[in-house]
Amino acid sequence: MEEIENTNKCGHPDCQCLSPISDEFCSEYCRNANGEIRGICQCGHPECGKGISADIE
Ligand SMILES: [Zn+2]
Ligand SMILES: [Zn+2]
Repeated sequence: MEEIENTNKCGHPDCQCLSPISDEFCSEYCRNANGEIRGICQCGHPECGKGISADIE
């Protein structure tokens, strides 16, 4: 039996989010970035960009 996944990793290599299987990207941010995000993705999803500023303490 194959497991059918209804999510898909976002097409942006620096983004950790899952996107709907019907969409290559999780957000317009990633779609527009088209491979040009450097460092932290700012797509706005909580799973992503956790290291923006508060990971030191
Ligand atoms: Zn992201
Ligand atoms: Zn994304």
